[in-house]
Amino acid sequence: MDWLSGFANPIERDVPLGDLTWYRIGGRARYLSRPDNESELERLVRRASEQGVDLKILGRGANVLVRDNGFNGVVVRLDTPAFQRTEVNGERVRVGAGVDLMRLAKRLSHDGLSGLECMAGIPGTIGGAVRMNAGGQFGCIGDVVERCRLLDANGVIETWSKDRLAFGYRISAIGDRVVLSADLRLRRSDRAETRRRFEEIFAAKTASQPISERSAGCVFKNPPGASAGALIDAAGLKGSRCGGAVVSQRHANFICADPSAKASDVERLAGMIAKRVRAEYGTELELEIDIW
Ligand SMILES: Cc1cc2nc3c(=O)[nH]c(=O)nc-3n(C[C@H](O)[C@H](O)[C@H](O)COP(=O)(O)OP(=O)(O)OC[C@H]3O[C@@H](n4cnc5c(N)ncnc54)[C@H](O)[C@@H]3O)c2cc1C
Repeated sequence: MDWLSGFANPIERDVPLGDLTWYRIGGRARYLSRPDNESELERLVRRASEQGVDLKILGRGANVLVRDNGFNGVVVRLDTPAFQRTEVNGERVRVGAGVDLMRLAKRLSHDGLSGLECMAGIPGTIGGAVRMNAGGQFGCIGDVVERCRLLDANGVIETWSKDRLAFGYRISAIGDRVVLSADLRLRRSDRAETRRRFEEIFAAKTASQPISERSAGCVFKNPPGASAGALIDAAGLKGSRCGGAVVSQRHANFICADPSAKASDVERLAGMIAKRVRAEYGTELELEIDIW
């Protein structure tokens, strides 16, 4: 019996990943799994680990660039109902890893629960956002996470509290573990006010970022005490191009993709930007996007 058999949701082979990401570019996954529940996911993670097969979770692919030759392992999507649950209990919210971040932020802020308004304009799932502590000038998701349930490569589930999750600037201690769910602590607030705040942040984001274009958000992290976008802009790189990839005119830290773009165009352009910023300012830029 092959190690991939026996799952309720059959594992697909040779699946194009491009359309599953915001960039809509990149190659295929050798396998794609959409587990029906946590025990199926746990079994898959254990089997992949035993077989030495690489495994990655894909949320909305809003922070991922899949290379043109694809991913030679199992890609897992947590888009089945078991991972899409949201339970609101007063000011506490337990939310599944596959829940859409922006939709949840909008719903809760429109219901007068405050704390996730800062996620307006940030595409993704709860799992992807918690893993990298998504956020920006208006706040980060880690600010409202109390604890997370995580699954490790041996199939062990643990609950980690905020201290152990060690949220920092676009980072946490989660590493290669799978986020199953997160417990959020929000504040009951004036409904009109939280709603206004969400819409205000959304408007600020759409004015300053190319939200409707194909990208994976900011390509580079901000270096300590500086803005990666400002350095790229000052280096005169807005509008620079490699094949179908172009540095956004709206926000210099975004590389947008034309329909003709290849993942290699984006990667080459990112390399060119890093080289120019190093040469002009002596600053080393670190990638924020995850390249598979
Ligand atoms: C237009 C645009 C604007 C953006 N603006 C911002 C912004 O303002 N601030 C910001 O922080 N980000 C921003 N981003 C980036 C992106 O929205 C965030 O990184 C978001 O958290 C990605 O979530 P995702 O579910 O799509 O993760 P994916 O892109 O699918 O995955 C990202 C990483 O997280 C891992 N991952 C995903 N789900 C899980 C899980 N359940 N358990 C463990 N690991 C997991 C993946 O394996 C991968 O390593 C922007 C992106 C775009 C396209």
